[in-house]
Amino acid sequence: MAETIFAKIIRKEIPANIVFENDTVLAFKDINPQAPVHILIIPKTTEIESARDLKSENHSKLLGDLFDVANEVAKKMGVFESGFRLVLNSGADSGQEVPHIHLHLLGGRKLTWPPG
Ligand code: 5GP
Repeated sequence: MAETIFAKIIRKEIPANIVFENDTVLAFKDINPQAPVHILIIPKTTEIESARDLKSENHSKLLGDLFDVANEVAKKMGVFESGFRLVLNSGADSGQEVPHIHLHLLGGRKLTWPPG
């Protein structure tokens, strides 16, 4: 798998505004925020490029961890009660730019639907 900017952030080789970290998951502010709260939540493992690589028999624990962290981060950022959106882009048509699976957590304003 190709090296990504997120792998460098995990290894602290480039700076990021980290809002949560544990052994398996890292969450940090998006460099180009699309809402007042825009956090990226990523697994520290670099082997999963997109949701298309997920298999329940291999990744159910990790997926649970990602959603646990999403709820924790939503509380920490003050949007748990007001509401937030989790986005998981997968592949070219979705607009995925970084081939390292990540949840976008967006909140802090009224989000429109459908997305662009
Ligand atoms: P994607 O389009 O792949 O779903 O989302 C990738 C996200 O990573 C984009 O929202 C982009 O702004 C963010 N991003 C790209 N490079 C960096 C970086 O170096 N630092 C941070 N914090 N975010 C980044």
